[in-house]
Amino acid sequence: MSIADNLLKYKSELDSEQVQLIAVSKFNEAEAVLEAYEAGQRVFGENIVQELVDKQAQLPKDIEWHLIGHLQTNKVKYIAPFISLIQSVDSLKLLIEIDKQAAKHKRVIDCLLQIYIADEDTKFGLGFDEAVELLRSEEFAVLKNVRIVGLMGIASNNASEKQTNDEFTELKVLFDGIKLSFFRKDDAFKELSMGMSGDYKIAIEAGSTMVRIGSSIFGKRKIKHWKAE
Ligand SMILES: *Cc1c(COP(=O)(O)O)cnc(C)c1O
Repeated sequence: MSIADNLLKYKSELDSEQVQLIAVSKFNEAEAVLEAYEAGQRVFGENIVQELVDKQAQLPKDIEWHLIGHLQTNKVKYIAPFISLIQSVDSLKLLIEIDKQAAKHKRVIDCLLQIYIADEDTKFGLGFDEAVELLRSEEFAVLKNVRIVGLMGIASNNASEKQTNDEFTELKVLFDGIKLSFFRKDDAFKELSMGMSGDYKIAIEAGSTMVRIGSSIFGKRKIKHWKAE
């Protein structure tokens, strides 16, 4: 199936009122992104800053780019002018830097807090307590150029359906608690980004509002190692 066919399949399957499709184009050439763009897709996720910046420069300017991979503080400046959503905020230090760079461009950058839900030590993210602590902190309260619009999580690799469901359900419970405690009157806090090609159905059942789908749209990834320069 072509990229356009795959997108069409997701479009017909997902209720766009409830769930937004983020096409994860990492390790795919700009031409593949353009093919998806021409099929109507406008929101794309990338996980490496250099790759994201290169594609953003080459591709149509009405694309909404999401960063979904770990972000180092020294790289925030490269994406601050254009990024639509940073899904992978995993520390207060990073959030403070995003705020500073956003201010330079007179922007407010939307962010998700990435929450650690997997049963592995390889994934980035805040623990449940750390997320609450961040939101309670005085350092966070003064930030004017970032807006937290929800949470993101990645389930364990190769987990059973039950474990995956448990992990997503825990994240949904945390999301509801944080919404009540910190964002009750804030309509912008509404996104729960969970689910990838292998587990998006379970994620949607558990309350996902954004699924990040890569391989089952783009097929086998074309670029093995994105050159840093
Ligand atoms: C690569 C990636 C995805 C997409 O994964 P697929 O299995 O290819 O759908 C989603 N989220 C994150 C954070 C990723 O790094």
